[in-house]
Amino acid sequence: MITMENVWYRFGNHAIFSGADFRMKPGEFVYVVGPSGSGKSTLLRLLHMDIFPGRGSVTVSNACSRTIRPRDIPFLRRKVGMVFQDYKLLEDRNVFDNVAFALWATGVPSGKIKKLTLQALTEVRISHKRYSMIPELSGGEQQRVSIARALVNEPYVLLADEPTGNLDSESAEDVMRLLKRINSKGTAVLMTTHREEFCRSFPGRRVRIQQERLVE
Ligand code: ADP
Ligand code: MG
Repeated sequence: MITMENVWYRFGNHAIFSGADFRMKPGEFVYVVGPSGSGKSTLLRLLHMDIFPGRGSVTVSNACSRTIRPRDIPFLRRKVGMVFQDYKLLEDRNVFDNVAFALWATGVPSGKIKKLTLQALTEVRISHKRYSMIPELSGGEQQRVSIARALVNEPYVLLADEPTGNLDSESAEDVMRLLKRINSKGTAVLMTTHREEFCRSFPGRRVRIQQERLVE
């Protein structure tokens, strides 16, 4: 479902990936570990096609970085849900609107928007706070809203960038259990983390960024 072949990526003269290969199957749960600055966020941006490799290719489902047309990228992004460490929620909108927003743009009828949004909010157990404004929520609750927003388009993979990075250990474990439950229903999850203890408590395949490559 995800294939990276011989990917080279650099910022100016700073090499991040030099001939990196990676594969992920539908429904897998994969951790990406590596020190700060090693390229974890860059990897997710390559898979989300925010950036493109200098050499090599990134393929996600049937979209290839070499051939995708710019106007098709938004369709790919609906199927590749991104969860950011800093949530990136709209602070002047309530919880419901933050999640529904992802559907308005796609021309879904309003009745269906309501149904899909409530379904996603229920999945992350935050539907009781659907009329709350974002600043009224705890960090863990905000992260759950951002996961609901990524889920509402029923993606085949969730990319989560240090989703527990800003949370206390209780909320972090809550988010881990949620990601594991989402994965057990069939959605693939690729998450970056520098907290390797999760890899033991919540088992998954582990891939490390090392010497500008991805190693098992
Ligand atoms: P990680 O997520 O593992 O901490 P990143 O992927 O964010 O690492 O960054 C990898 C390296 O690339 C870092 O050295 C970072 O400073 C650099 N970098 C990231 N984004 C940019 C950018 N937009 N322009 C220049 N350098 C960048
Ligand atoms: Mg990062």
